[in-house]
Amino acid sequence: MVDRWTSADTPVLVVGAGPVGLSAAILLARLGVKALVVERHASTTNHPKSRAVLTRTMEILRPWGVEGDLRAQALPPGAFRFIWIESLAGREIGRVEPPNRDVPGPNSPNTICMVAQDAFEAQLRRHAETYREIELSFATELIALDQDEQGVSVRLRNRHSRELKTVRASYVIAADGASSRVREALSVAMLGPGELDHNINIHFRAELAPWVRTRPAVGYISSVGNGTLLWAHGTDRWLILRAFDPARGERPEHFTPQRCLELARAAVGMPDLPVELINIAFWTRTAQVAQRFQVGRVFLAGDAAHRFPPTGGFGANTGIQDVHNLAWKLAAVVRGWAHPRLLETYDEERRPIAQANTDFSVTNGHRWAAAQQAILSGDEAAVASALKEQVKHLDSEGQDLGFCYASGALVSDGTRGAITRNSQVYVPCAVPGARAPHVWLRPVKPSAAAGAPRLSTLDLFERQFVLLSGPRDEFWRSAAQAAAQDLGIPLSVYAIGPGGDFESHGDDWTQLYELDALGAVLVRPDGHVAWRARGPSNHAVALLRQGLAAASGRQT
Ligand SMILES: Cc1cc2nc3c(=O)[nH]c(=O)nc-3n(C[C@H](O)[C@H](O)[C@H](O)COP(=O)(O)OP(=O)(O)OC[C@H]3O[C@@H](n4cnc5c(N)ncnc54)[C@H](O)[C@@H]3O)c2cc1C
Repeated sequence: MVDRWTSADTPVLVVGAGPVGLSAAILLARLGVKALVVERHASTTNHPKSRAVLTRTMEILRPWGVEGDLRAQALPPGAFRFIWIESLAGREIGRVEPPNRDVPGPNSPNTICMVAQDAFEAQLRRHAETYREIELSFATELIALDQDEQGVSVRLRNRHSRELKTVRASYVIAADGASSRVREALSVAMLGPGELDHNINIHFRAELAPWVRTRPAVGYISSVGNGTLLWAHGTDRWLILRAFDPARGERPEHFTPQRCLELARAAVGMPDLPVELINIAFWTRTAQVAQRFQVGRVFLAGDAAHRFPPTGGFGANTGIQDVHNLAWKLAAVVRGWAHPRLLETYDEERRPIAQANTDFSVTNGHRWAAAQQAILSGDEAAVASALKEQVKHLDSEGQDLGFCYASGALVSDGTRGAITRNSQVYVPCAVPGARAPHVWLRPVKPSAAAGAPRLSTLDLFERQFVLLSGPRDEFWRSAAQAAAQDLGIPLSVYAIGPGGDFESHGDDWTQLYELDALGAVLVRPDGHVAWRARGPSNHAVALLRQGLAAASGRQT
């Protein structure tokens, strides 16, 4: 398989077919760029560690048309809560639940999907296989890489035949997980605590429908030290997450299959429960972000770039957002309409977000521990107050949607914006760097949206820059077209309002985007605002040229 890849054929080589590597390949393919994905295992994972696919990630997946298939494999609606219990069959201590996230709210056309990582990866793989631009090479391990000014030479080994190959790629995305060999080969340091504690995941099959039907929850936390029971699939596939302490003599080999079965029965509270052990996994909780996300032509993404506690469910989500930021930039450089300098903004934009999500996840871990301590203390008021705090763990729309980039590819409009620092509350904001807010639109001209009855502003952003302005705009539309043509940058222009291409369906888009009727906003292919003019200008062409030049890395 690898044989037919030559350097000219491999613009981007992706290491790792986890959620981040597969998403990277799909994002590139949708932009017309070929990607070779190498994965050392024979298939995607068989272990359901992550479940929360957050709203922003569902927005990224939205144009791929996979949501229906994911929902069919997801936990049912109405389960998005944590319950503290003595055991699944035993006494309930308390519960936390965020506002209803089963139906889209005003801020997004999408909602969280609780689908286990093994099902999620398998779905991404099936979807990746539908693109002719993607070559998936399983049982293929990266063993070394070396780069020069023209490209990257990647040494690969087939794990069945042991055959060695060298593939030449223009760029490499290292999505090879928390113990990234690529990161190690590039000597990129990880900053932050590297060993918070040690954990085992026990993945087992047992029919728990009678209990889960009466009190559905995505997680049941044992108040008596039997770990956290996470609902994975159907009513019969579960995961126990449990810390162990090597300093007190506990070692991975102590978790024999027999002991794992006993731990599963103890968590459920049924000593005779029929249980089948599926697999186990050991992992170390860390809170680290790589010192840099780019070394020459190689980019770290996902757990290779940041590894942090799962409390909050941001790990894979942050990684998918990394490659969403990176893919369009790589595609633009490969296709020749952006300067390679644009690639430097990947680190500039994503590393602070990775750090913010690391800090958020660590704080959630502290909240988790505080709840456990309160329960052990037996003080009912302390328990109630600690559990109330836990809602921040599940209710994180501000953290998920409210992040704002800062880099040389963004042109400030002089405002600082109202980007919230509240992890629970997202305040729509169109400051350059922010995710362009969602507004429902109704097509005015039938040709504008291929017959869609209503669509989100988010549906306009994927393959090119987009200029949004009002229908009375006489400046920005023609200025943007002239500037884009001059710079050779793909651009679509839409007028929103009576007589335009779309009308706002519900919220007034100019209010959310903080524009007057003659303002305009330029949005990047990843749906983040690149440039904004809140009103008209006599220098429209020059301003838009400046915006597009910065956004494509052409500004000196
Ligand atoms: C208990 C638990 C619960 C979690 N819950 C959530 C959650 O709800 N939401 C969330 O977003 N995240 C969650 N996470 C985190 C999430 O699982 C990770 O962040 C995610 O797996 C990272 O994806 P990745 O693609 O970067 O890396 P990985 O999933 O680790 O994939 C890396 C891939 O690279 C391959 N690879 C490694 N080295 C090589 C090599 N040399 N050559 C070829 N291939 C290689 C590996 O085999 C692997 O398939 C959770 C984690 C745990 C442990």
